Amino acid sequence: AAPDDRIGYAVVGLGRLAVGEILPALAECKFSKIAALVSGDRDKALKLARQYGVKTESVYDYASYDRLASNPDVKVIYIVLPNSMHADFTVRGARAGKHILCEKPMATSVADCERMIAACRSANVKLMIAYRSQYEPMDRAIAKMVRDGALGPLREFVAGNSQNTVDPQHWRHKKALAGGGALPDIGLYCLNAARFMSGAEPEEVFATTSRVPNDPRYAEVEAGVHFILRFPGGFTATCVSNYASHDSRFLRLQGPNGWVELNPAFAYNGLKLRHSRLQDKHNTVTDIEFPPANQFALEIDHMSLCVMQDRTPHTPGEEGLQDQRIMEAIYRSAETGRAVRL
Ligand code: NDP
Repeated sequence: AAPDDRIGYAVVGLGRLAVGEILPALAECKFSKIAALVSGDRDKALKLARQYGVKTESVYDYASYDRLASNPDVKVIYIVLPNSMHADFTVRGARAGKHILCEKPMATSVADCERMIAACRSANVKLMIAYRSQYEPMDRAIAKMVRDGALGPLREFVAGNSQNTVDPQHWRHKKALAGGGALPDIGLYCLNAARFMSGAEPEEVFATTSRVPNDPRYAEVEAGVHFILRFPGGFTATCVSNYASHDSRFLRLQGPNGWVELNPAFAYNGLKLRHSRLQDKHNTVTDIEFPPANQFALEIDHMSLCVMQDRTPHTPGEEGLQDQRIMEAIYRSAETGRAVRL
C-alpha cells in the first residue's frame, strides 16, 4: 500500500521489544506504519519520534493515552507493556475506538482476558494477540505438513524454551506485573506451538514447577515449569521452560511416518527446519531452507489486512484466553500434584 493508505499504529510502552523489534518491523511493513508513541519517558519517546518521523503532537504518556481517541492517524494500538497492564490498556484503547494488537501473554488472568474480549466486542473493534510464531513461515509450514498428514497421526510433541534471566528487579520477576515466571513469558511458546501445529486442544494437563533456592529472582515467580498436555487420540505434548538455564529453544513433532524439528525454534530469526520421513523403509532427513522473513512485520501486516478487509485476526483474543485457561490449569496441577482436566 502507498504510505498514505497504510494502517497507522500507536505503540504503547517503549521497552526492549518495542524499540529493538517492533518499531523497526513497522518501518518495513507493507500495510502498516508508525503513527504515535506512548511512553512514561518523554525524552526517549521524543527521540524515537524524531527517528521514525512521528509528529510531536502524536507522542503521549500513560495519562494522556485516552486522547488517542481524537487522533485520526491511529487505527490500531499495539500494547507492549508488562503483562498485567495489557488488560486495562486494551479496555481503554477499545473505548477510544481503536483496534488492539496486544503482546503475549494476553493478560495475567482468565477474568482479564474475558474483560478484554468483551470491551473490544462492545466497542466493535478487532483484538489480536501477537503470537508472532504463528505468522512465521517455518512454523506455518509445519502446521501445514501436519494437516497434510506428512507425519501420519501425531503422537508426540516435545519442546523447550529456556533462558537465563538476569536482573532480579525486572518486572518479569514480580508476580503482580508478570503473572508468573518462565511459564507465561517463554513456556507459553511451547504451549501455543503445540496447539497451533497440531490444530488440536488439550483435554488434560499435568505439571510441576521449580524454584532456585535463595535466588532473589525467583522469590515471587517460578524459575522452571514442566508440563504434559494430553490431547484426544493419544497425542501428547511434553514441554519444559526455565528462567535459570542457558538459552535453548527447540521443538519436535513426531508421528509414525516421520518427524519434523525446529532447532532453534521460537527465536526472532535463524530458525532451522529439519524433516525426517520414512520412505521405502529408510529414513530420509532433509533440511528445508526458507528465505529470511521478519515475523514481526508479517504479524503486524496481518492485523492491518484484517482492519482493511474487515476480517477476524488469525490469533484473536480467544486464542490468548485459551492459553491463559491452560496456564492456570498448569499452575493448579503443579500446586496439587494432580492432573487437571480442561
Ligand atoms: P521491557 O521491560 O523492556 O519494556 C516494557 C516497557 O513498558 C518499559 O520500557 C516501559 O516503557 C513500559 N512500562 C510501563 N509501566 C511499567 C512498569 N511498571 N514497569 C516496567 N515497565 C513499564 O519489556 P519487554 O519489551 O521485554 O516486554 C514487553 C511485553 O512484550 C511483555 O508483555 C512481553 O511478554 C512481550 N514480549 C514479547 C516478545 C515476543 O517475541 N513477542 C518478546 C519480548 C517481550 P516506557 O519507558 O516507554 O514507559
